Amino acid sequence: RLVQQLLIMQQQIPQIGPVLRKLEEVDALLPSAPEKAADCPLTKDLQLKNVSFRYPGTPDGRPDALRGLDLRIPRGSMVGFVGLSGAGKSTVVALLTGLFPPTSGKILVDGRPMDNALRAGWIRRIGYVPQSPFLLNASIAENIAFSHWGTTVDRARVQQCCRMAAMDFVDDLEQGLDTVIGERGVRLSGGQIQRVAIARALYHDPQFILFDEATSALDGAAEQAIQQTIDSLRSRMTLVVVAHRLSTVQACDTVYWIDEGEVRMAGTPESVLPAYEAYLAAKNGACGEGTVPPEAQGA
Ligand code: ADP
Ligand code: MG
Repeated sequence: RLVQQLLIMQQQIPQIGPVLRKLEEVDALLPSAPEKAADCPLTKDLQLKNVSFRYPGTPDGRPDALRGLDLRIPRGSMVGFVGLSGAGKSTVVALLTGLFPPTSGKILVDGRPMDNALRAGWIRRIGYVPQSPFLLNASIAENIAFSHWGTTVDRARVQQCCRMAAMDFVDDLEQGLDTVIGERGVRLSGGQIQRVAIARALYHDPQFILFDEATSALDGAAEQAIQQTIDSLRSRMTLVVVAHRLSTVQACDTVYWIDEGEVRMAGTPESVLPAYEAYLAAKNGACGEGTVPPEAQGA
């Protein structure tokens, strides 16, 4: 068995070099390297200009995941994205975080192109609730204070974020915020994980927050609580919401309907949502399945 393991290790050594180099690249972007980061407050708007994105390794003949995207998110606004599963919503959000550089086109923060120096500052200003959040094998409090990993956890701040994220389930845990979750700890439900991710995104008081289907696994009461939090954040930050339920984007200033990697329609919710709903209804009718896609539930 030992010889076998040694062989495997030897085979893998060539792959390790590129991974380590990539990690060094990422390290240079992290908040732990503050001297390299230019501060990046949003004062005017975030813009995508003619942005296309292709995932590395996409087979020939498959189109780019995003094509020719133009959009503008003014500071202090709330912008929603709707579209079928696979349309490209999560990819747009990933581009807005600055973590994915576009294949072509530009991302502009206050008119300045997003380069590495700017990206490092931008990352410190945003809160990102991914569609599939990743929790560490650590306590709930440490998971929430993740953006300040390695420093003392600010318990009062964690508690405040828990309230905003409707994390009342913590009260039922014997060890409360110190409960260890993950591989060797308590298993949380999808909806509970989503709420930990929301609390985590709020912990470092972002200026710009992105919710990627953050309420899709929540029941009615928890969803309502999160909706209230989103409403209360509106006056303080810029929000991007990928919606699972159309009711969530009803209050947005602008809604983008993403369809097969392109903006199919953009405008006020009153102008975009009826067209999108009609499209969903026609699509369901045509399929003859009689099922309501998750995007349309609760609309
Ligand atoms: P949505 O969030 O609207 O459901 P996504 O942005 O996740 O859509 O996906 C858009 C397209 O990009 C889909 O065709 C999907 O298969 C593809 N895609 C998403 N993530 C990856 C990835 N990591 N690697 C390759 N292709 C991906
Ligand atoms: Mg998605």
